Amino acid sequence: MKRIGVLTSGGDSPGMNAAVRAVVRKGIYHGLEVFGIYQGYSGLIAGNIKKLELGSVGDIIQRGGTILYSARCEEFKTEEGRQKAIEQLKKFGIEALVVIGGDGSFRGAQKLTELGYPTIGVPGTIDNDIPGTDFTIGFDTALNTIIDAIDKIRDTATSHERTFIIEVMGRDAGDLALWAGLAGGAESIMIPESETDIENVIERIQQGHARGKKHSIIVVAEGIGSASEVARKLKETAKIETKVTVLGHIQRGGEATAFDRVLASRLGAGAVDLLLKGEAGLMVGVQNSEVVAHKIDDILTDRHQLDKQLIQLAKELSI
Ligand code: ADP
Repeated sequence: MKRIGVLTSGGDSPGMNAAVRAVVRKGIYHGLEVFGIYQGYSGLIAGNIKKLELGSVGDIIQRGGTILYSARCEEFKTEEGRQKAIEQLKKFGIEALVVIGGDGSFRGAQKLTELGYPTIGVPGTIDNDIPGTDFTIGFDTALNTIIDAIDKIRDTATSHERTFIIEVMGRDAGDLALWAGLAGGAESIMIPESETDIENVIERIQQGHARGKKHSIIVVAEGIGSASEVARKLKETAKIETKVTVLGHIQRGGEATAFDRVLASRLGAGAVDLLLKGEAGLMVGVQNSEVVAHKIDDILTDRHQLDKQLIQLAKELSI
């Protein structure tokens, strides 16, 4: 194997650049030529491909987003689209690939392996919703962005004795909400994995009031519905007035934390190691501080599990 390609696909996440850098430098370290494929699978189909040198990935370890750009590409889901992609791989002499993205991107990666192009997946998403790894690239940075926002909102919540509802990202996974709620000292955390009825939230607010505590923070994962819906229910059911903050895309950006940079470096380099060993169809992850690999087929059928002990801990500490 002489030439490998790297692409970022699906939702971007801070730390993807550190992963790209690791793939390029680790590849070059082992005598490979590394090609950057721009705009995910769309760029692969279009042949938007350039050779990356050591300097091409200089000064990007800290930067959020992805220098390779990301895209969603319906055409790659079709046989014809993938054939066009294969023609580009042949044209550039690329023999294997590293795909950095979420589970959708891994479905595409698996198709490339099946077509004879060994591909390794690297989990990059702020949601932390991928099984087979304790953390995905970008989760820690997004979490710290949320915590920064919660701390600021807490200042005004305390001064004005208000209840704030903060909506964070996480369609199917409550990791961001749970970790942020725990780290931000939220009174209630509403996540898709664990039913929190509105009565319980009301009870907590009222208990707080009875103790003389006039402000509360409620963290809501977007997967359970909207924060404004929760606000409406609190008003209708218990006449509790709240302020709503939807953090939105601010959670996707920003300089990657040290944790994400190190994680991305380990996973990017781990992916190249697997390709050098002749492996294919695997996703590289970190579990119990070790770099591990799992079959992408298993990752796609498994479900990410939220840490149940953390859910319980958050309940116990927010009384
Ligand atoms: P993420 O990787 O963040 O989950 P998406 O689900 O949008 O993001 O997937 C990213 C891209 O991966 C899609 O736009 C498409 O090009 C490719 N992809 C997703 N599912 C498949 C599939 N079943 N077959 C081939 N390619 C796919």
